[in-house]
Amino acid sequence: MRIDIITCLPRLLESPFNDSILKRAQDKGRVEVYIHDLRDYSTDKHKKIDDYAFGGGAGMVMMIEPIDRCIRELKSSQSYDEIIYMSPDGQQFSQSMANELSLKKNIILLCGHYKGVDERVREHYITREISIGDYVLSGGELAAAVVADAIIRLIPGVLNDETSALTDSFQDGLVAPPVYTRPAEYDGLKVPEVLLSGHEKKIEEWRFEQSVKRTKQRRPEKE
Ligand code: SAH
Repeated sequence: MRIDIITCLPRLLESPFNDSILKRAQDKGRVEVYIHDLRDYSTDKHKKIDDYAFGGGAGMVMMIEPIDRCIRELKSSQSYDEIIYMSPDGQQFSQSMANELSLKKNIILLCGHYKGVDERVREHYITREISIGDYVLSGGELAAAVVADAIIRLIPGVLNDETSALTDSFQDGLVAPPVYTRPAEYDGLKVPEVLLSGHEKKIEEWRFEQSVKRTKQRRPEKE
């Protein structure tokens, strides 16, 4: 899979992709992530990528031209399954959306800033808009990193068995059961007996019961 992220603040995206699972996924060749600086596509001598809003009002608007030039250049080398704009009023991101997107070949994530992008970009270039929740961030970079992370860890071969995505919350419609590690007793606080029993079937049943119980308590709407 290939993910191209378009941003006017590329530095904000450096560290999320240069550590841990996301870095290993790239090193193993499971995913290619390219970060494109919108300013490189500006024809303005000051590398301007935004301007005042028509009609007035506070806040700058990201111009159509640099975005168009960047998308055009990317599309000249490969086709894209989705061109996604990160937006607080987009479709709310979920595990099922992450699953669906992890099956795509090439996607673009466009990060907005300031007041967002010129509406004509959204109308004519974007195939989908995703929000990571009903709150407003200062830019789309953190949202794009969240979406890319959730997608990349689902690509086959990215996680090993130990960290398998299949046992994570929401993957089967349930939240994950509680987990414990050594020591078995700490300052009088004990780990549930069954987990120390070595009885695989009982452990599996206990985990399932806990998942169901937690889902009822924490995400009753998922039942
Ligand atoms: N004026 C816009 C908000 C702009 S915030 C409005 O009221 O809807 C600046 C940029 O941050 C947006 O263009 C978007 O790319 C990103 N952003 C902010 N909140 C987000 C969220 N919850 N999910 C995804 N992207 C978000």
